[in-house]
Amino acid sequence: MFPSAYLDYNAGAPVRPAVAQAVAAALAEAGNPSSVHAAGRRARARMEAARAAVAGLVGAEPAGVVFTSGGTEANALALRGCGRRRVLVSAVEHPSVRDAVPEAEPIPVDGSGTVDLAALDHLLRADPRPAVVSVMLANNETGFIQPVAAVADVARRAGALVHTDAVQAAGRLNVSMSHLNVDFLTLSAHKLGGPSGIGALVLADPDFPLAPMLLGGGQERRRRAGTENLAGIAGFGAAAAAARHEVEGGEAVAEMRRLRDRLEEQARARVPETVIVGAGAERLANTACLALPGVAAQVQVMALDLAGVMVGAGSACSSGKVAASPVLAAMGLGADIARSAVRVSLGWASTAGDVDRFLAAWTELAARKGFDVSAAEAA
Ligand code: PLP
Repeated sequence: MFPSAYLDYNAGAPVRPAVAQAVAAALAEAGNPSSVHAAGRRARARMEAARAAVAGLVGAEPAGVVFTSGGTEANALALRGCGRRRVLVSAVEHPSVRDAVPEAEPIPVDGSGTVDLAALDHLLRADPRPAVVSVMLANNETGFIQPVAAVADVARRAGALVHTDAVQAAGRLNVSMSHLNVDFLTLSAHKLGGPSGIGALVLADPDFPLAPMLLGGGQERRRRAGTENLAGIAGFGAAAAAARHEVEGGEAVAEMRRLRDRLEEQARARVPETVIVGAGAERLANTACLALPGVAAQVQVMALDLAGVMVGAGSACSSGKVAASPVLAAMGLGADIARSAVRVSLGWASTAGDVDRFLAAWTELAARKGFDVSAAEAA
């Protein structure tokens, strides 16, 4: 078999075996959770068990979990459904937050990508309209962690609601809705080793009067009409349970950090011109954002792919788009770095062999582009 290394977990993690089993088990049985007969009741029980597992991942009440078609829909549901006309979102949000409400106002970030709390306070005080503030817990491109609890303090003083997109943070950090002090939190299963096409908006107050985007059915306590994606939900529950176990145990996350740190250290040792974006910043254990200045990210991604190493570029969650990263630009990084940064992200099945394959391909690519790799050759 051609040895390949999948290092693009922030775009989508491989499905865990336990998830595939849970999906298959759900598909093997007939039954709509809304039906009152035995098959319907079994389907409902399966769905509610998954809801409890998803709630458990973030310390929420199961009744607060609204299943959606993914993180994108959950973000839109929070920002459009919360009843606040004024929406403030950080400048480094995923496009599904940035574009959820066209008139959203940007909250600036500093050079380390962190939300500027004083600027947020100023923005909130400058306009008395009731607002909702949305700041992601961890960034999909850089892994940078935002001070969401501090954002919530500032927002609450001004009477604003608070949403956080925890799609990348969940399963990689301990996430607690009450510690974060947020009203709404977004999750997506496929970053956790679950199926794609399923996610959740989690409400701190299960009785919050959320306005649904989809009407015509009483599902999800009238917050999202339509027959539930039971197989997806069952897989999401299995992924959430496994991710919670890993985060609470700590060892899996520590191992991911060791692998990521070795990848970064060795990339710089072998190719000294490698730039590590945010090396000293507080960030996820699984994400590295590396740049080879002057080499377009797209070229790097393709060259690494030819060597069997799969990484992301820019906000590569969206189909094949490889542009200068607006996230890196918002952090004030020069165009040269913003255009030449690739994202390497690890997860539950990553191995030391994956890191070695990356390092070999990185060194070979750098040598071909004329960088000095003599340190690597000497090693
Ligand atoms: N939010 C963040 C931070 C993401 O990285 C993604 C990735 O795709 C999403 C939201 C969208 O989630 P989904 O693909 O489930 O719609």
